[in-house]
Amino acid sequence: MAKAKGYAVPAAGAPLAPFTFDRREPNADDVVIAIKHCGVCHSDIHMVDNGWGQSVYPIVPGHEITGVVTAVGSGVTKFKEGDRVGVGCFVDSCTTCAARDLDREQYMPGLVLTYSGFEPGSDLPTYGGYSDHMVVKEGYVLSIPDNLALDAAAPLLCAGITLYSPLRHWNAGPGKSVAILGMGGLGHMGVKLAHALGAEVTVLSQTLSKQEDGLKMGADHYYATSDPKTFETLAGTLDLIICTVSAGIDWGAYLSLLKVDGTMVLVGAPEEPVPLNAFALIPGRRTLAGSMIGSIKETQEMLDFCGQHGIVADIETIAIDQINEAYQRMAKSDVRYRFVIDMATL
Ligand code: NAP
Ligand code: ZN
Repeated sequence: MAKAKGYAVPAAGAPLAPFTFDRREPNADDVVIAIKHCGVCHSDIHMVDNGWGQSVYPIVPGHEITGVVTAVGSGVTKFKEGDRVGVGCFVDSCTTCAARDLDREQYMPGLVLTYSGFEPGSDLPTYGGYSDHMVVKEGYVLSIPDNLALDAAAPLLCAGITLYSPLRHWNAGPGKSVAILGMGGLGHMGVKLAHALGAEVTVLSQTLSKQEDGLKMGADHYYATSDPKTFETLAGTLDLIICTVSAGIDWGAYLSLLKVDGTMVLVGAPEEPVPLNAFALIPGRRTLAGSMIGSIKETQEMLDFCGQHGIVADIETIAIDQINEAYQRMAKSDVRYRFVIDMATL
């Protein structure tokens, strides 16, 4: 075991505070990573509050991790000391199950979350990226393209892939009219990625306060959902809506913006159930779907795509001791557009 330093919550509702814990010694197939930056995802807030009822305490959050390799196990072939790498939302998955599917491994039953899960075959909790170092199997480590800065690339590991995967799955591209609902950490990545994929991009935000930024990031249209006229103007016009909102909304009102055969994909994961009138779907043969992060293969594809297009997150860098304040600001949608912790401040 090696001692690690981080920030953790001991129980639901407690603030994050300094925490010392053990990381395992590297096995032959492990990579040791000195963490340089970690993005702050709204899922971190749901998890520390036990909002989804699945949290394992103490929690060291963080699954938008970038850093540098400091050591590799004897069997590691893809990475060497000094490589710039990333780790996202999971650090292991099914390795034996017959249904193992490398294109969809995030949906396999053996998925091990980067934090608030358990190390495979043990009762040691997994601890995330608000910490100084990590030990991760090489199959779950990503390469960061050379032209992307490690701080602004960190949010690609969750926010980036969570938008890239449904945009690709539902064929966002030329001729497709795609709306991104919620202009937060996930949403702003969705605008950049959907634009780079060639889709016509509409942002649906509560107000017009981020309109200028949204248009610069590649949106073609920008509407305030607080204005009832938005729903009249856009009725039946969209092929695809990706909903990144972290709270409950009027689902039926948004479904009415879809064309016949349009799809609304939930990536935002509110803590309350989604109530729905069947007639929000039936008359337009509309689909309401969900999507979760992406496979390791797809995450590397997304990172390479971002490297080719020069896409990173718009970030506000914070010191680790500002993390509790950052959570409070995120709860008020007061972030442009992702907090990233500089781990040198730990
Ligand atoms: P975020 O940065 O806080 O952004 C959420 C955005 O939703 C806000 O910026 C705001 O956009 C909008 N919003 C918030 N409260 C709202 C309300 N009451 N009514 C209407 N709009 C509201 O959060 P994030 O990190 O992007 O995460 C968003 C959600 O995705 C969270 O639930 C998170 O857990 C989930 N998530 C899911 C996956 C997955 O794999 N499916 C992965 C990562 C995160 P405007 O200011 O533009 O209105
Ligand atoms: Zn996340």
